[in-house]
Amino acid sequence: MGKAILLEIVTPDRLLVSEKAEDITAPGFGGEFGVLPGHTSFLATLNPGEISYKSVSGNRKYLSISWGYAEVRPEKVIILANTAERSEEIDLARAQNAFKRAEERLKTRTADINVERAEIALARALARIQVVARKE
Ligand code: ATP
Repeated sequence: MGKAILLEIVTPDRLLVSEKAEDITAPGFGGEFGVLPGHTSFLATLNPGEISYKSVSGNRKYLSISWGYAEVRPEKVIILANTAERSEEIDLARAQNAFKRAEERLKTRTADINVERAEIALARALARIQVVARKE
């Protein structure tokens, strides 16, 4: 077993992950970033997307996140997420419906459509669909 870093992912209603990882990737506002044990401390804003980590037990795990913040320290990463789901918790049909709904709104673009809100909903749905596709 190599070096490990503690990953904690919390949402307003639950502690979703508290596990030692060998590496972590997260969807930063400026692009995806990777963290290894001993990384320099920093703070990042997270976009809708995929979080992945290699647990010390050996398998890679995937979660979707809507948006949040990451606090990186050499020995610990804390992710505060607005919503996050493990791949096995995601309802694919629901995410596909959310995707279609957002896509329709973006196609229509009538005056009552909040384009930014639809784009963000589309990104959330896409993140969930991508994470489901990671399930083996
Ligand atoms: P929808 O339009 O289907 O409600 P949404 O993107 O607006 O999707 P959120 O507001 O991001 O939903 O999430 C609300 C709650 O529902 C959160 O607890 C989130 O984890 C959960 N959730 C949303 N979509 C899914 C899904 N496809 N599978 C499992 N849980 C989901």
